Amino acid sequence: MYAFLPRTLPETLSALTELALDLRWTWSHALDALWQTIEPELWARSPNPWVILQNISQKRLDELAGDSIFLQDLNRAIENRRCYLSELGWYARRRDSDSPIRVAYFSMEFGLSEALPLYAGGLGVLAGDYLKTASDLDAPVIGIGLLYQEGYFRQIIDANGDQREAYPYNDPTSLPVQPTIGADGAWLKVELRLPGRMLFVRVWQAIIGRTRLYLLDSNDVRNGAADRGITAKLYGGGAEMRLLQEVVLGIGGWAMLEALGIEVEVCHLNEGHAALVVLERARRFMQHTNVSFREAMWATRAGNVFTTHTPVPAGFDAFPPSLVYTYAREYLREFNLSVDDFLALGRLDPTDKDEPFNTAYLALKGCAHVNSVSRLHAEVSRRLFSGFYPRWPLDEVPIRHVTNGVHMPSWDSVWSDHFWTCACGKDRWLGTVEGLAEPMSASVDESLWTLAAKQRHDLVRYARERLAWQLGQRGASPQLVSEAAQVLDPNVLTLGLARRFAEYKRPNLLLKDPARLTRLLTDAQRPLQLIIAGKAHPEDAQGKALIREWFEFTHRSELRRHVVFLEDYDLALAQHLLQGVDVWINTPRRPREACGTSGMKTLCNGGLNLSTLDGWWAEAYRPEYGWAIGSGGDGSDEADADSLYRLLEEEVVPAFYARDAQGVPRSWVQRMRASTSHLAPRFSTNRMLIEYMERFYRPAARTYRRRCESGARLARALHAWDSALATDWHEVHFGAVESRREADQWHFRLPVYLGEISPDSVKVELYAAADGKLPAESTLMSAEGSIAGAISGYIFSASVPASRPVEHYTARVRAWHEEAFLPAESAWIAWQR
Ligand SMILES: *Cc1c(COP(=O)(O)O)cnc(C)c1O
Repeated sequence: MYAFLPRTLPETLSALTELALDLRWTWSHALDALWQTIEPELWARSPNPWVILQNISQKRLDELAGDSIFLQDLNRAIENRRCYLSELGWYARRRDSDSPIRVAYFSMEFGLSEALPLYAGGLGVLAGDYLKTASDLDAPVIGIGLLYQEGYFRQIIDANGDQREAYPYNDPTSLPVQPTIGADGAWLKVELRLPGRMLFVRVWQAIIGRTRLYLLDSNDVRNGAADRGITAKLYGGGAEMRLLQEVVLGIGGWAMLEALGIEVEVCHLNEGHAALVVLERARRFMQHTNVSFREAMWATRAGNVFTTHTPVPAGFDAFPPSLVYTYAREYLREFNLSVDDFLALGRLDPTDKDEPFNTAYLALKGCAHVNSVSRLHAEVSRRLFSGFYPRWPLDEVPIRHVTNGVHMPSWDSVWSDHFWTCACGKDRWLGTVEGLAEPMSASVDESLWTLAAKQRHDLVRYARERLAWQLGQRGASPQLVSEAAQVLDPNVLTLGLARRFAEYKRPNLLLKDPARLTRLLTDAQRPLQLIIAGKAHPEDAQGKALIREWFEFTHRSELRRHVVFLEDYDLALAQHLLQGVDVWINTPRRPREACGTSGMKTLCNGGLNLSTLDGWWAEAYRPEYGWAIGSGGDGSDEADADSLYRLLEEEVVPAFYARDAQGVPRSWVQRMRASTSHLAPRFSTNRMLIEYMERFYRPAARTYRRRCESGARLARALHAWDSALATDWHEVHFGAVESRREADQWHFRLPVYLGEISPDSVKVELYAAADGKLPAESTLMSAEGSIAGAISGYIFSASVPASRPVEHYTARVRAWHEEAFLPAESAWIAWQR
């Protein structure tokens, strides 16, 4: 251990360092009592073991070192940790020869804990949840990210309701991370060549149970002042800063893996920010295997997975070509590529010299496996990337989807943890989640209702404390601060609404008709209450105005007790909110929310979702689980707001307050049960990771290995195959089709001329497009033989049921190789008409 503590711990307590540095404490709460014993007051303020260890006094250390009960507990904790580490987990027990040796998950942000603030929002929280799941399942996934000196901004709302941004310094010595030591015993520094200089990148690591997160930062004393700041802010600087961050993440990340000798077969790019890794991976492959850049791409691409997260082109990073050229000038020489060929890797139109260099495009070209993050988002993404598959039907654009999930043990409350343990056992989130719905469905109404009440109580207490603290920080009067202790009511229907204040998320939809909302909040018999949080991007004036609107609303004297705005939305606040709310509201403008995960975090706690049919909710929603705002079209703000109010007035509020003689709202509890038992397993990162493993990582690892064998023989063959198609494709053309009907079959015969292309390099298909009722279909046509007297002309034939009219059918020729992912890796296609 090379951890920074202000003093050495007594021998008997030294194991505390090991426990505090393992971020498993962010989701396993078995040790909480131990830390609480050490420093109860500090623990109450900041439940962060690493902070406790750094601030403990010598006197307290001496006491603990002589406290036999404490030492016993400590030993048990250490035993427990070593057990977790040494036992084979669920995935490790299922390993076989197709399993990847290791998957490296690259992400600009990781949201593991507010104690390691390297995230801005959903993308980072997803990455953090994913690593925790990898640890729990014992799946060979490691994380690669950046260690920001300041990270994302912290939000302060001033007395006028204006958002102020603060960037407190993340002193690495007070973060639960440690330097990574290289083979020579020194702190590992990766060296990257930049124009005119070297960039030294320091490597850190965080321990996440069984797995590791490697973090890179540029704050090395040997770097110039400007370069030291490359990893200062998350989403802070301009285009050049962003490009340099992506260089550190992608190029530095791969260089680091090689320096440490960590063998990785699959690279998973969490969003296009990490795209440059595909270049560095290919470059190193060229060197090791002595092949060309294109051949290296054919080999390594099989092992690269790209997950796209945005539904709008503006969400992609696109850099000015001159900027990319400045940084790539020397680097691209090693690829033996011209400048234009290099820049074309990030372009849709390789011939357009003005087109920016788009890293999502690079990722698409550099990854054989591409996916979006919900079913609806896959449709949107296919449209966004359709330009790369000209003449392909939209539904064949090779972008699949794996819907996101959340790491349930990070989001459940102590109460729901206990509840689930009784129904499904302690190990329920340590493997597959099939089979959890059934025991949970048997839970008793009264117990579920008690669960909701306890969680709501805790949330109200937390909100009061946080509000009082926030007012104190703002310098509010003691009277105002003490009034905070009286806001909200633990027995009132509690709605939560927290998100990035971006226009498309419509955080103010509920404010469309303030009078109508006020009536709901202040109803004498059946009131509701509202807790709101969220940050606006520092440059987003519109988002900030939306915050101000809520701020002003919450300060109306008649509403102060019914609605609160909690500032500085972070993981800790999100956890409390999602554990305690009865209903979570989400109002994105469809289809702008690629997936959204916040609503999933309430599932394990029995909270219900009230959301537009966007992202994950579009595939999860059923009336027995929750409520849908609007009708699934792209409703106007007015119509959606009206739908939202109406659902609250006519369904949500009546259902919550319809108590029977035992005081239980039966239909409400029924929804809680259905939602928690069926949706929590389905939207867990367990399901998500297993899907990535089965559908992406295993095929990726298997194919990557095959392409690498014998000096990348197969990769070279694939490159040769594809290059030949590129040269000769223009020669493909069709003769006149013959069709005839026989009984209930159509028979087609078609002459096809392939020029220099071998018939083995293509597939000829009979295709009918989808039309309202009927799905698209394609039928393989078989070669009957050569056309007499023609050079490289062949007759292809096929028969299909005559249930569709003959004019529905057309033929097409497409590139074909059984070892390639198609059309992802080679999109050649020609149509008969
Ligand atoms: C889950 C989470 C998000 C993502 O929320 P969405 O509304 O689903 O985009 C953002 N920030 C924090 C702190 C979260 O915990």
